[in-house]
Amino acid sequence: MIRFPTDIAEIASRPGELRAGGTDLSERRRSGRSRGPLVDLRDLPGLGAIELVDGGLRVGAKVTIAALAAHASVPAGLAQAAGGLATPQIRAVATVAGNLSQRVRCWYFRNPEFSCLQSGGTSCLARDGDHLYHSCFDDQACVAPHPSTLACALLAYDATVEVAEAPGAGQVAHGAGAPAAGQAPLLPLAGVLASLQAAHFGRGQPPMIVALRVPTPAAGERAAYVRAIARARAEWPLAEVVVRLSVVDGLVTAARVVVGGVATVPIRREAVEAALVGGAPDEGRIAAAAALASEGARPLPMTGYKLPILVGAVREALERAAGAS
Ligand SMILES: Cc1cc2nc3c(=O)[nH]c(=O)nc-3n(C[C@H](O)[C@H](O)[C@H](O)COP(=O)(O)OP(=O)(O)OC[C@H]3O[C@@H](n4cnc5c(N)ncnc54)[C@H](O)[C@@H]3O)c2cc1C
Repeated sequence: MIRFPTDIAEIASRPGELRAGGTDLSERRRSGRSRGPLVDLRDLPGLGAIELVDGGLRVGAKVTIAALAAHASVPAGLAQAAGGLATPQIRAVATVAGNLSQRVRCWYFRNPEFSCLQSGGTSCLARDGDHLYHSCFDDQACVAPHPSTLACALLAYDATVEVAEAPGAGQVAHGAGAPAAGQAPLLPLAGVLASLQAAHFGRGQPPMIVALRVPTPAAGERAAYVRAIARARAEWPLAEVVVRLSVVDGLVTAARVVVGGVATVPIRREAVEAALVGGAPDEGRIAAAAALASEGARPLPMTGYKLPILVGAVREALERAAGAS
């Protein structure tokens, strides 16, 4: 059964998996990995706009990735990440909320013949099986890397998330306090990603994303997004990185480095940032800082090859950002 609600309240009161662009969901429906009622967001009004609001941007949940990439007010690192993921056809229909909520690309999870930690089983089959494209920061029982490029970029921009208040979505209580009357709760992105992930492991209901808030970056900030992939296009990255640099009088005054594709969530690389701040963003400092990107990694038997790729991607992104005017 598919419902087409016209009001968020209708979604909260009756269960079903949400469908936005359908680019991830339809594959799981075909394979039988997703079953049960669907709630299509097609007719839900008010979630499709990018607006300038106090302190930054408000990006509706149904904004397409192509629209995000093309919008003049979207910060450079986020726009580049949006414009670099998947294919033009996918970007034209896929939405920001669907991108953040998409399920992992692990072949054991995607194959309904298998039962893994994300499909009701008791162990991660990739950990002892084929995990060639998986995590090299072994940080959780399940070793599938987070699939969302936008999660990596939005974390780099300190985005927050408006979620619908739904009974059973209490896991999103990582929050920034009670919302004003009539407003959706506004939560840190990291908390919402944790809630989505918990739901994917069968713990609680996934929160419904209503909109993203992206604070305005500092004036003059430089940013870059770099992805390393196994073929020319149309593939999830082996490693990806968003960097933001503020440079004043030739010295780095602020740096933000977030990497994806290498762990079960996108991770911030504080050691890289600290090695940059206070110095000139020259070739030597950038190379030394980028080398710290793999600090703390615990590769699986097949994923050690990702570490030099990660360091190279961070270095390239820093060089691009430092060279950007
Ligand atoms: C060849 C190829 C390459 C790709 N490469 C990349 C890549 O490099 N990086 C990347 O990030 N992605 C990549 N993708 C994945 C693609 O970006 C996602 O499939 C897409 O972003 C999902 O968005 P959607 O709107 O179609 O979501 P849907 O398929 O409609 O939904 C996906 C999930 O999100 C949930 N959902 C939808 N809306 C909401 C909401 N408002 N609140 C809460 N949950 C919601 C749904 O219930 C579902 O579980 C690639 C896909 C393909 C086919």
